[in-house]
Amino acid sequence: MTLLRIENLSASYGVSQALFGVDLEMAQGEVTALMGRNGMGKTTTVKAICRMIRSDGTLMLDGQDLHVLPSHKVARKGVGLVPEGRRCFADLTVRENLIAAARPGEWTLHRVTELFPRLGERFSQRAVSLSGGEQQMLAIGRALMTNPRLLILDEATEGLAPIVRQEIWAALHRLRQETNVAILLIDKSLKELAAVSDKAVILERGRTVWSGDITDLTPEISEKYVGV
Ligand code: ATP
Repeated sequence: MTLLRIENLSASYGVSQALFGVDLEMAQGEVTALMGRNGMGKTTTVKAICRMIRSDGTLMLDGQDLHVLPSHKVARKGVGLVPEGRRCFADLTVRENLIAAARPGEWTLHRVTELFPRLGERFSQRAVSLSGGEQQMLAIGRALMTNPRLLILDEATEGLAPIVRQEIWAALHRLRQETNVAILLIDKSLKELAAVSDKAVILERGRTVWSGDITDLTPEISEKYVGV
């Protein structure tokens, strides 16, 4: 069943238009890679979904028009965002950060710390004292604590040590196998992205130029639009 339906989405920063026609459809439980070179509109698409920027076109989550909602209500409708730059409450402990985000559902402190054991080990530490990788795990944990139907990760492995990246990719594989949450992923590491994704959507200059099963994404298409 379709969870997220985006058609002909446009958006601007003041007078500067960034999105000209984004199409993106996601089903429950599906992992979709949102791809494209730098500046092609990936983060802007995420901002539009989360209503952090004004947009026009079709933007429906589970049959509900997101355009009529303010951003805090989008989160309540089941969109969990892990934004670029892993925002957590620096002065709160790991536990407090997780509890502050909690909404009823299958994701609890127990499940999050089972997915990321390091967070359990750091439960009473303030977020500011965590490593970059641990902060990223906390940001993902916080998004999961909202019990989202759609989880969005914007460059979640950016700037992290290889071993921590592997832990995050492993967690995403587990989420894909063990839960029904739909995941929209933006990441520079195309190999890892392809390994975990079911579908891909490629943007160029604010438009969807390719979408399909990840298995149909040929090296030629990748080279043309993503530059590898
Ligand atoms: P990256 O991988 O570099 O983050 P992206 O695909 O996520 O790229 P966006 O950040 O969505 O791309 O940017 C799309 C376009 O919008 C770019 O031309 C960018 O310069 C412009 N843009 C992004 N943020 C702003 C902003 N706050 N004000 C003005 N223009 C912006």
